[in-house]
Amino acid sequence: MSDEQTEMVLVTVDEEKCIGAGQCEMLEEDTFYVDDDTVIAKVIGTGMLERSRANLIVETCPSQAISIVEASAQESPVGDAQEDSGAEEADPS
Ligand code: SF4
Repeated sequence: MSDEQTEMVLVTVDEEKCIGAGQCEMLEEDTFYVDDDTVIAKVIGTGMLERSRANLIVETCPSQAISIVEASAQESPVGDAQEDSGAEEADPS
């Protein structure tokens, strides 16, 4: 038994790329749901899968819309990194 195979990872769907083919929902109906109206998949529940299963689903998606959110990415929130230093230089005249 390998730790890598049993490690749980978070998956996400890029709604811009999803074409609603539904393979993800067929394979993991507790994790993916294809909305009947938008025909776009979304992650439901915890979004956590074993890495081996997540890898399979990533490979199965025909539009490469599914990806694994690696732990390092989860820990760095999408923040406001463009903080203005406010160091405007006055014109010394
Ligand atoms: S398998 Fe990919 S394209 Fe198909 S519904 Fe899921 S995310 Fe969308």
